[in-house]
Amino acid sequence: MDNDSLVELVKTSAFYLGHKQSDLRVIAAMRKVDRREFIPEDAITEVAEIDQELKPIGVLKVKSRDLVYNNAVVNIGYRQTCSQPSIVALMNDILDLRRGMKILEIGSGCGYHAAITSHLIGEKGKLITIEYVPELAKLAEANLRKHFGDGFEKRLKVVHGDGSVGFPEEAPFDRIYLTCGVKHSFKSQILIEQLNPGRGILLYPERYGDLIKMTYDKGEITEQRFSGVFFVPLKGENS
Ligand code: SAH
Repeated sequence: MDNDSLVELVKTSAFYLGHKQSDLRVIAAMRKVDRREFIPEDAITEVAEIDQELKPIGVLKVKSRDLVYNNAVVNIGYRQTCSQPSIVALMNDILDLRRGMKILEIGSGCGYHAAITSHLIGEKGKLITIEYVPELAKLAEANLRKHFGDGFEKRLKVVHGDGSVGFPEEAPFDRIYLTCGVKHSFKSQILIEQLNPGRGILLYPERYGDLIKMTYDKGEITEQRFSGVFFVPLKGENS
């Protein structure tokens, strides 16, 4: 197994295809980002041990790095995860990312999703990614610096902080997306106010439930939902 075989799995996954998404630029960007490079060496993921009849008989502790080319969530430490590649693909499809866009990502984690997004918006695009856990902000920055080399400074900024209230100092953004799940108390309006008023998109998941796309166009908001997602929780002031 290698990263190309992972991308093939994503391309053909029922979840991805079920939403009838088909932007091949997303798949091409995923080929450029080797997921293994983003997962800390010492991170451990627990997987169910099953018997021959598929009955769970215990829990196995496996190095996350040994699981990276599966289309599944893996742990990255600090009780956080690197998103499932097919959900990264689906989100980036829905976001309709174009070269040169300015984007805000809330929840950098290990930087895997951010790297794919940055490839999609190209060298002239700018991605600001905020992470709540200081150690993960450091991990994301180190991973992204390594991946993009000299290009890092120009195209990316990793911020340690609470992204639940957005990042007004750099607004407006063409796109804002969350990689952590919200509760009912979350106020999307706070982030909508930081969108580009000419067709900005906010995309965020519920903790268990729907992925919600809000398109903001000349003062009008339209909402679209994609069902069947689960995410680690959004923390912070507006969670
Ligand atoms: N995109 C990431 C997925 C990380 S999981 C990747 O590819 O690895 C979601 C992340 O959101 C976690 O790292 C968690 O710490 C972070 N998070 C939760 N609440 C947050 C908040 N209020 N502001 C910024 N990051 C937050």
